Parts: sequence; C-alpha cells; structure tokens
Amino acid sequence: MQYTIKEKQVEVKREVDILVVGGGPAGIGAAVAAARSGKRVLLLEKRGFLGGNITGAYVETCNHFLHGTTFTTNGIYAEIEEKYRDRFGNSHDIRMDAPHRFSSEYLKIFLDDFLINEGVELMFHSFVNDVIVEGDHIQGVIIQSKKGPLAVKAEVIIDATGDGDVAFSAGVPYDQGRDADGLCQPGSVNFRLAGLKVDQLTGEVDGLKVIGKRFHDDYRAGKTGLTCKRQDLPFGRLTSGGVASYVNYTCAYEIDPTDVDGLTQGEVECRRYILEFYEYAKNNFEGFEEIELASIAPEIGFRDSRRIKGLYRLTKEDIEAQKVFEDAIAVYPRFYDMLSPNAYMDGDGKMEGEGYKGHIYEPIRDERTYTIPYRSLLPVNINNLIVAGRCISADHVAESSIRGISACMLTGQAAGVAAGLACKGKVTPSEINIQDLQAILREQRVVIPS
Ligand SMILES: Cc1cc2nc3c(=O)[nH]c(=O)nc-3n(C[C@H](O)[C@H](O)[C@H](O)COP(=O)(O)OP(=O)(O)OC[C@H]3O[C@@H](n4cnc5c(N)ncnc54)[C@H](O)[C@@H]3O)c2cc1C
Repeated sequence: MQYTIKEKQVEVKREVDILVVGGGPAGIGAAVAAARSGKRVLLLEKRGFLGGNITGAYVETCNHFLHGTTFTTNGIYAEIEEKYRDRFGNSHDIRMDAPHRFSSEYLKIFLDDFLINEGVELMFHSFVNDVIVEGDHIQGVIIQSKKGPLAVKAEVIIDATGDGDVAFSAGVPYDQGRDADGLCQPGSVNFRLAGLKVDQLTGEVDGLKVIGKRFHDDYRAGKTGLTCKRQDLPFGRLTSGGVASYVNYTCAYEIDPTDVDGLTQGEVECRRYILEFYEYAKNNFEGFEEIELASIAPEIGFRDSRRIKGLYRLTKEDIEAQKVFEDAIAVYPRFYDMLSPNAYMDGDGKMEGEGYKGHIYEPIRDERTYTIPYRSLLPVNINNLIVAGRCISADHVAESSIRGISACMLTGQAAGVAAGLACKGKVTPSEINIQDLQAILREQRVVIPS
C-alpha cells in the first residue's frame, strides 16, 4: 500500500554558500576546509554531536593500521590530532601499543570548539531526508526537525552522511555492498567496560592483547559458547581508571544499513551479544572479575553502505597499480580491511556462510600507496553536489581501504576546498581548476604527488 503525501509550505531556515551534511570525519574535514575559503558554511548533523563513527560508534582507534609503518597522517586530521593532544593528552590511555587514540567524550567537546572557532555554523538534530532539485541542480535540502520539515538553501552541497543520503534523495545512482548480492559488511555496536584490574593487565606484556588472542583461539575451537559470530576481539584504550573504552566485539550480519527494520534488528541483536559477552568476560578473563558494563555506543556503526556512481570509480586494480591520478586529492597507504558480509564461524568453530572466503585483511606493506581522484567525489548527474567519506565512488574492495577515518577526512577536506573554489569562481565543482585545488590542499598540509 502507498500514500500520496500532500504538498507543504516549508520555511527556509538558512541560506548559505556551502552546506555540509553529516558531521563525521568527512564532514569535519569538509566544513573546516570550506570555512577556510572565507565562505558561509553550515553543517547539519542528525545527532547532537560531531565525530560520526568515532564518537557515535566509539571507533576511537582511528589509525591502528599505521602502527609499525612509516606512514604519518596529514591534512586536517593531523592538525586535529595535534591540537587534541595539546588539550587532552593521550586520553588516560596506558596501552602503548598503537598510534594515538581519542576519547570520544573529550573529542565531542574538542570538535564543537574547533569547528565553531573555524567559523563553521553547526545545526544538530537535523536529519536530512529530502532535497529540492531543479534539473541537475540541488536548490536546497529538507531537514526533519521537531517543528516539522525545514529547508536549507546553498550554492554547493557536500554529502558527508556516510550513507550518501543527500545523493540518494537527489536521484544519484549508487552501488551498495558486494556486486554479487548487495550485502554490506556487518554492523557493530561497540561498548565500554569499567572496573578492569589495571595492574594485572599491564606490565611487560599487553594483557588485553593476550586476552584477545586467547579468545580468538577459544572461539575457533568452539569453546566459548557465545552466539555472536565474531572471533576477533579488538580493544581500544585501557585507562588508568580501569576502563576498556572501546570493545569492538559484536557483529550483526546481513543487515541493510539504510533500512529501518535492518537497523532495528542490528541494534537489538548486538545489545544481546554485549550482555552475553560481559558475563563471559567476567567469568573467564583475568583482571575482569569486577567489571561493569559502563556504556553502549549511541548507535550501531557501519563500515560501508551506499557508494555513489561518480565521474570515476576507484577500483582495487587502481590501488594495486598504485595509480597516481592527475586529479589526485590524497595519497593513502595500500591496505584493505573488509569483514566478510556473510562469512563467519558459528560458536562451535564450524564454518558458516562462505567460510572466510569473503574476508579481506591486508595490512600496509612495502610503503605502497595509491591516490584518490577528485572525480570520485563528483556524482554523475548533479552539478552542485560533492560527496565525501566512505560513500564516494569506489568498488567494494577499494571502499574497504578508503573507509579509513583519516582517508574520509582527506576526501572531506578536498570537497571543502573544491566547494570554496566553485563558489568563488561561480562555476560548478566539476569546472574548478584542479591545479588550484591541489595547491590549496598542499598549503593545508595534504600530501599530493607533484
Ligand atoms: C565497528 C567499526 C570499526 C571501525 N574501525 C575502524 C578503524 O579502526 N579505523 C578506521 O580508520 N576506520 C574504522 N572504521 C570505519 C570508519 O569508522 C568509517 O569508515 C568512517 O567513520 C566514515 O566516515 P564518514 O564521515 O564517511 O561517515 P560516518 O563516520 O558514518 O559519519 C557520518 C555522519 O553523518 C551523520 N548523518 C548520517 N546521515 C545523515 C542525514 N541523513 N542527515 C544528517 N546527518 C546524517 C551521522 O550521524 C554521522 O555523524 C570502523 C567502523 C566501524 C563501524
């Protein structure tokens, strides 16, 4: 059954030069870079805070894959990390085994201040679910507010929603999940535990790493009896106060991240796994005897969903060939991290789904890098929309690399600079001068091959 909804008069709440939708890593990079062009910038975010998956799904270990390599971060990401450290140090972290980890709580406060000081106007609790399109041009977007729908008009719009919601509303074609069946990587609800016995988990060896390894072996041997089909157990910070701040354990498979029923199922399923795990950890892990389930992340986190069809589709082959595109806007280390959409082991250690066939994890090797082309940020059919973050135009395997938080912020930064150039030159984002874009990005500490 379907209803036809009546036409409505909608108040125009704001009119700006550049509108950024989504306040995750990509939206942060985009809004800051756009504001630095001197234009009026507004950022809309459906939640009450910035940070995207870092704060909303507790993904505080942004750059663990860089550990032990010669790669360093650059651009606005590096700037944020430095300024955050000046203010909040290492976030009480007493593990010394990885690059810097944020505290999602301090980061929320840091990002409010950072973006406001850069001149970005923020509007929270603003879920964008429609656009006003004329021909191939978006006039504005519609947000759902407590007072009903409101419109925001802008010259250039940057879609940094992770799911490509603005592009979807504007009719931009997209891919989702694997080519074969459209399945995405599993969704995860991360959580925090308090009351860990720090003295038993630190010292010569990293106790959390030892526990993670033993858990992996026990799960594969079918010894845990847990129903969540996840054998890996990455932890984030361990604080001096005995908090394991980011436990990345749960996985809900075969969920569509853009479907309300799928999202509901994923949240409920993962919370059930969390309680099971809590009881298991309390009874089985040394130093966990007195733990409390301290908090559950505000929302289920997803690693991939829609990927727009853009003027160029970045592929795994491009990454393997270490292609240097003429319109490169970022350099990134070659690595892949794709949890298989439906390949796991059951709690008895038996393979289900396709076995581990679809699971791809390849760490950084031999200082190999690739570049991301600007064209992958430009949708095929809308002339004032730029897309940034994990929903840019890429194949499924390439997405498992460009989904890295610092990569998302780099594509956001490029989108912000490009939007500034388009507004100043009164041209569309596809008409800007690429050398100008690259020159400004270099001035903003982004590494781009010459
Ligand atoms: C469990 C898990 C572990 C991960 N581990 C790592 C890791 O260790 N290292 C790493 O680099 N990456 C990791 N990732 C991937 C990384 O978190 C994402 O790829 C990255 O956050 C994507 O950034 P983004 O800005 O594109 O999107 P997101 O982080 O998803 O941010 C999108 C933002 O837009 C907002 N939004 C969405 N839709 C709308 C709308 N319609 N209107 C208004 N606002 C909207 C959201 O609330 C959110 O704030 C992990 C992801 C998960 C789920």
